[in-house]
Amino acid sequence: MPIDYERNANNKAIQTHYDQTSILNPAFHALSVVISTLGGTNATYDPNVLRIYVLSKYKGSQDILARLFNVAQRLQVSPDFNAQLYQLTTSLVDVFAYIRDNQGKMGTVSGASGRRLLAANSAEPLAVQLVKAFIKSGLQAPALQGALGDLTPIFGDVDAIVDLVVDLWNSIRGIAAEANSIAASQQDYHPSFAAPPPPTPVRVGNVNVSVLTWNPVIAAEVGDDVVADAPRGSSRRRLLQDNQILIPLPAGFTAATPADLPTVLIPTVWHIMMYKNADGTYGPPGYDKACDMVQRMITITNFRLMPARFQLFMQECRNVASYQYLIKPSREDWINCASPGFFYDLCGDVIQPSAVDFPRAINIYVVGEQPPTDWVGYAFAPGATDDPVYGHMGLTWTTLSTDGVNNRANFESGASALVHEVMHHLGMQHTFADGECVDDDAATGVTDTPESSGPVWSQPWAQKAYIACMNAWNKVLTSNWDTANRLASTRVGIPTTDINPAFDSCPSGKGSDETANYITYTYDICLLAMGHLTSGQVAAMHQITADNNPTLYAWGQYYAKNPPPSYVVPVAPGGTPSPSKSPSPSPSPSPSPKPSPSPSPSPSPSPSPSGGGSTGCQSATQKGCKCVNSWSYQNLQFSDCVTVPGEEDKGNWCQVDRSNGDCANARNGWWDYCTPSCGSNPAPTPSPSPSPKPSPSPTNSGTPSCGAGATTKQGLTCTMANWKLKDSTTVYSGCANPNNDPKGAWCVLTKGQSTAAGAAWDYCPDACSSAATPPPASAYPKALNCKNGFSGLPGSSCTCADSYAISFQGYGTSYTGQRGCTEFEETGSGMCVTTCSKNADKSFNNKPYTCACK
Ligand SMILES: [Zn+2]
Repeated sequence: MPIDYERNANNKAIQTHYDQTSILNPAFHALSVVISTLGGTNATYDPNVLRIYVLSKYKGSQDILARLFNVAQRLQVSPDFNAQLYQLTTSLVDVFAYIRDNQGKMGTVSGASGRRLLAANSAEPLAVQLVKAFIKSGLQAPALQGALGDLTPIFGDVDAIVDLVVDLWNSIRGIAAEANSIAASQQDYHPSFAAPPPPTPVRVGNVNVSVLTWNPVIAAEVGDDVVADAPRGSSRRRLLQDNQILIPLPAGFTAATPADLPTVLIPTVWHIMMYKNADGTYGPPGYDKACDMVQRMITITNFRLMPARFQLFMQECRNVASYQYLIKPSREDWINCASPGFFYDLCGDVIQPSAVDFPRAINIYVVGEQPPTDWVGYAFAPGATDDPVYGHMGLTWTTLSTDGVNNRANFESGASALVHEVMHHLGMQHTFADGECVDDDAATGVTDTPESSGPVWSQPWAQKAYIACMNAWNKVLTSNWDTANRLASTRVGIPTTDINPAFDSCPSGKGSDETANYITYTYDICLLAMGHLTSGQVAAMHQITADNNPTLYAWGQYYAKNPPPSYVVPVAPGGTPSPSKSPSPSPSPSPSPKPSPSPSPSPSPSPSPSGGGSTGCQSATQKGCKCVNSWSYQNLQFSDCVTVPGEEDKGNWCQVDRSNGDCANARNGWWDYCTPSCGSNPAPTPSPSPSPKPSPSPTNSGTPSCGAGATTKQGLTCTMANWKLKDSTTVYSGCANPNNDPKGAWCVLTKGQSTAAGAAWDYCPDACSSAATPPPASAYPKALNCKNGFSGLPGSSCTCADSYAISFQGYGTSYTGQRGCTEFEETGSGMCVTTCSKNADKSFNNKPYTCACK
């Protein structure tokens, strides 16, 4: 501790870094409030923002991070940390407010207690003794009797509390002095961007044509929806959106209108960006379990989106190396794809070719870590439908990973991010304005979210609001995760617990600030306890989505009526809050002994390379977690639930498994008592091979095959199925050149593969080009293959582009991957999109014109 996690390091070192930060993380929930108290500011930092700031700023400082790690462990000595957060935080706020207000008196403690302490332990530096004496006498002050009463049952005697407070003070006082720079670091948290306006149609002959910015070759196996034939004849005119790829609805299915608020089940496609380690393995650690993490995040998200009648399912999750574009050459390259800046700017070349089922599905790219990345996720509001660069979503690995914040220990921060970004994608704006009192989201039709001048955490009442959320979670919801999910699934409108006139940044406007709208910037615990959307937001999301992305809106309704097996309707167990979840102190191991495994800076739970191990026998722990298969403690290796030699009095314990994200009650953030339930400890089972091998090519060695199953130029494999282009009826097998690609024949790849550029197709060996099936002469679109250039184009330097995409207004048809002067069924004559080299011809560039061959 700490490693330089921005550099290349092997998976074991990075996993240790994850294990250590997952012990630090929960502590920041209390520390952010305590730090702002000590700093004398009312604004309070989001715990994630503070973690990012502290880990970045002090990554070179063993000293500060080790101290923080130490106090983080001691703060979590109680296995009920999450359930005691309100008491713990308010008590520490009182103590640190006292310290702040009385710092001047430090060292001048009068009375016997101070002098006795000095005499009793002369080994301690004088300054430490003075601080301890000052705090010990402070705890006797009438103002701190409440705090003392709350802290004593958690930490045992007064001396233990004094020790903890002194160590806390030492580790955070420097940070508390940096309030302004911390505040400045939280601007980019969940940004949304506006996509550029859709292209303006141009009249060519007697049809209106739009040039599309996204220009893929859309080809897929026969039967795949994305290449389904558009309805012909007059029925083509019923679809009015021209600037997007349309996927025709199944015959006989009619979509409801937004006024009906139909349930819309949205497909999501996950691209887990990875990197190659020097030893040939892939990172980040845990990537092989990414799809389980996705499923977990979607499950929580669906509870929260239920009242909006939007739901998500995982249509596809890509985390294997046969999708070559997912793999960055090193950890540093991967980190640099998300910092400083956003994925689509830094590594966005792969987005257009790799986007799947766009715009019917939401394509989500996962990359990079916080820190150094200072954003959690981003989306476009609303997501564009003509170009995935402006219609995808980005999340960091920290947001998705159960080693990061996709877990209960971080109050479901990961799901909060996904809900937020999905709302952006469906057209929602933040409910707060940038420093002034205007109703920013009214422009999107949302008029029932009160005006707010800025994020919750920037307000002068932020600290009180945060503590109110802790209270709502601990006292109102009794810290019950099922209750939280169940209430979230029915809550529409601002709950009464989130209406507080004291939290009002715009007193002149109606209502007070919401601290728990899913699309404001606020604390995850607020969203867990009181998260909501208003009915205005629900109606606006349906209307905007129906207008902006009719393909997603209609197909989402179809999926809702015909759900895929991976979709599970969110149902939280228990109809009434369980009374057994009592906040009374647990009768078993008394909290008084010092934290058992020593809290020295590195009891690092560094698990064996086999990872969190979800296979094999795992005994249950006292607080409802599971043991990991293999773990180390003081340089010894242990399996499952054991008594550590030399520490027999502690009984059986183990490192807890955090991999499913539900373990929020570990002691010191990492261990718990357990009951061995597996007999003798099994040998660690080897984990299943993480990546299906790229299927071997069925070709014989020697002459290259060009048929189905042929090996491509990048060593990938042509699909065994027949394939076709969108809007064409011609079917191909193996290598072909249906679009007269000057680079030769190509094929649609077998499922599970993509090129390094992200394409689902690849070129065939040169020998296949002569043999490739030429496009049939009669088929539209018909490339005219002009050998001597083009006529009919404006300007002196304009020619037909080698690759373009267009849509025909009123026909509901669009064509991608077109080249040269081409005859379309809609025009009946040649046309193309120009590319002009001279400055004087700038006004003609990238526009559609009629054309013919010279
Ligand atoms: Zn946002």
